Amino acid sequence: MNPGTEKLISLDKEYLWHPFTQMKAWLASEPVIIESGDGFCLIDTEGNRYIDGVSSLWCNVHGHRVKKIDDAIKGQLDKIAHSTLLGLAQTKSIELAEKLVAIAPKNLKKVFYSDSGATSVEIALKIAYQYYHNQGQKRDKFIALGQSYHGDTIGSVSVGGIELFHSIFKPMLFETYFAPTPFPYRFNGSAEQCRQFSLDKIEELLKKNPENIPDIMCLAKGITGGYLPLAATLTTQELFDAFLGEPSEFKTFFHGHTYTGNALACAAAIASLELFQENKIIESLTAKIDLIADYLKKISLLDYVGDVRQCGLMAGIEIVKDKKTKESFPYEKLIGAKLCAAMQPKGAMMRPLSDVIVLMPPVAIDLPLLRQLLDIVYDTIKTDLPKIVK
Ligand SMILES: *Cc1c(COP(=O)(O)O)cnc(C)c1O
Repeated sequence: MNPGTEKLISLDKEYLWHPFTQMKAWLASEPVIIESGDGFCLIDTEGNRYIDGVSSLWCNVHGHRVKKIDDAIKGQLDKIAHSTLLGLAQTKSIELAEKLVAIAPKNLKKVFYSDSGATSVEIALKIAYQYYHNQGQKRDKFIALGQSYHGDTIGSVSVGGIELFHSIFKPMLFETYFAPTPFPYRFNGSAEQCRQFSLDKIEELLKKNPENIPDIMCLAKGITGGYLPLAATLTTQELFDAFLGEPSEFKTFFHGHTYTGNALACAAAIASLELFQENKIIESLTAKIDLIADYLKKISLLDYVGDVRQCGLMAGIEIVKDKKTKESFPYEKLIGAKLCAAMQPKGAMMRPLSDVIVLMPPVAIDLPLLRQLLDIVYDTIKTDLPKIVK
């Protein structure tokens, strides 16, 4: 290991507190430090390359250091990096809002910006609540899907259904009713069935079930191609209109974040949307979805592999102690984490959700690299996992 890396590791351990990370284990580990990116790969301070198998936590879309997005940010930087949207407008946030409304379900007309998925959900909750308040009604109960995840702020945890994240904070949360987790949230179907849930089909699905058309839609994660923090909460005209009034009526939506609608982030998002069209990203998905399905079939036959789920480019491979009963390993054995760690020297950067190996490559990844990633996942489960569980 070069001395520069050693120094950085010791500084990281001295100064950082990492999210969703047991820091005791971290302090005893030798973490990989990413220094740069190149296409769909991450490169560490030792010069090792890793395929970005979880899209830098589910947000990278077109890869890293994509010229068009880089140029859009650099171009915007030469104009202005940020100015507030509180009582002031900004070019890029206007251009992006128009583009978002153009591709959203037709009833969604207004864009409220923020900077993370969690804040986009907080905003949705507060808009829904105040919508009724502004009409003299009190509606303060929320209903949410069981086993759902909406972010880590108090409001979004309140409507989330992940027991592990929630139990500690229960006294801080507001009351929410949870509906049974429906299809397709625990989806275990074929590539063909998965395709029915690809982006262009969602609107068709919504049209067939008009009562399911959302009044509010939250967008985050990949909205900037995975470059910069940005989120948007889209609403209907009707919701928006309920907040109109004289200042003395106090119908204003009193909510905003300092970096709301950041100009650099909006410039990146516009470039990302254009790349979706230019590179025909959605059209290219079928072959990738099928390739993942082929590998998952093989992987599902391996020892210690339980439930295998796929929805589009996303897949979950559950590692279990007993293939027949699906009994899991004790949580403290950290099998998922150890399995992903074993993939790193082979050139894949993966992150589990407990003992579920999450596969979520960048949407625009090319087929040869996807095949390489799947080979590493298959090979590690086949040859390393039996040693890890011993
Ligand atoms: C990631 C995620 C969030 C939270 O977004 P952050 O940007 O991490 O706050 C909320 N809902 C869903 C479905 C997500 O995947």
